[in-house]
Amino acid sequence: MKILVINCGSSSLKYQLINTETNTADAVGLCERIGIDGRIKHTPANGEKVVKEESMPTHERAVELVIEALTDKEVGVISSLDEIDAVGHRVVHGGEKFAKSTIITDEVMQAIEECNDLAPLHNPANLIGINACKKLMPNVPMVAVFDTAFHQTMPSKAYLYGLPYEYYEKYGIRRYGFHGTSHSYVSNRTYEVAGLDKDNSKVIVCHLGNGASITAVLNGESVDTSMGMTPLEGLIMGTRSGDIDPAIIEYIMKKENKNIDEVQNILNKESGVYGLSGVSSDFRDLTQASEEGNERAKIALEVYSYHVAKYIGSYVAAMNGVDAIAFTAGIGENDELVRRDVCSYLGYLGINIDLEKNDSREDEMIISTPDSKVKVCVIATNEELAIARETVALI
Ligand code: AMP
Repeated sequence: MKILVINCGSSSLKYQLINTETNTADAVGLCERIGIDGRIKHTPANGEKVVKEESMPTHERAVELVIEALTDKEVGVISSLDEIDAVGHRVVHGGEKFAKSTIITDEVMQAIEECNDLAPLHNPANLIGINACKKLMPNVPMVAVFDTAFHQTMPSKAYLYGLPYEYYEKYGIRRYGFHGTSHSYVSNRTYEVAGLDKDNSKVIVCHLGNGASITAVLNGESVDTSMGMTPLEGLIMGTRSGDIDPAIIEYIMKKENKNIDEVQNILNKESGVYGLSGVSSDFRDLTQASEEGNERAKIALEVYSYHVAKYIGSYVAAMNGVDAIAFTAGIGENDELVRRDVCSYLGYLGINIDLEKNDSREDEMIISTPDSKVKVCVIATNEELAIARETVALI
């Protein structure tokens, strides 16, 4: 089947046309600067990337341009719209309403809208993308795949904050977790790669990208995860602070004479390894700077690995053990130094890393030694393929 996977942001729209027989993308692309001016980057699987500046006042126009690119005589990969069997939409927040992916109906759209308060930057944009696709492809089935759904299995002891309970009841203030599609896909691949029985397994997935989260997966179900009501909680990330003492917010506001929006912006966009190092949020730049003697870049990398190792330790406690740890996403898949540094804290678990293997690059590999008590894997995540598969399963 051919599934169009759409990831719609407020001014951008990422797409992939996934062939679920071959598990590959026939084309990938990105519409940028929607509502500003507009640019589409389209790459067919067996061709060169084409970039076109095109007026894109609305998301609907962006979807029109995506369809034009996909069906184009030269750079297209299908002859007509009829070849698209379904559209899978990434939706960031499903609140407590969605514990799994679902076919999009009017009631589902309404329920997604009711989650807007929980993800004011993302959910409205996701809905705009769904509406635009529905208008242009009224007869094609649409499926919503939620970032939060995989974590709906968390028990209340893991998702409740130590706040007045009425805030949970009135406003849904609780931990939801994100990157669910990736944690689900990577944990499933880990059972295969590490030779585990899913129904009798303890896996910790470290999704370390620009945004980062760690999940404890017990017998195939998420039982705890590091991101919270929003993606700001948990690990220190590229530009997000992760966990901080909440009293710091008011302290910064007073000392720096800033309002709450400005401080929120600092916590989301100017903190993390970027804020600590003053160099970059990109780990390639940080490693280079650290090797050149930049002390703050070195410290930022140390803080990062230390935090990842602490979260792993807490999830070993939550599950009373661990069979496998999987590293994924940009940093988890590519940065052997971060993997090595994180694992250097985990000797107490009987973890041994094969340093030569850790230095190599494969989409899926075991980097622990055969005598290691816990298998440590690198698994390339593929959220679009996971969304396409969920879509096929539902239609
Ligand atoms: P993601 O959000 O999963 O796309 O991850 C993006 C991040 O991965 C970048 O900001 C980099 O910090 C990191 N990254 C990507 N490639 C490499 C690499 N070859 N070595 C180290 N870090 C990398």
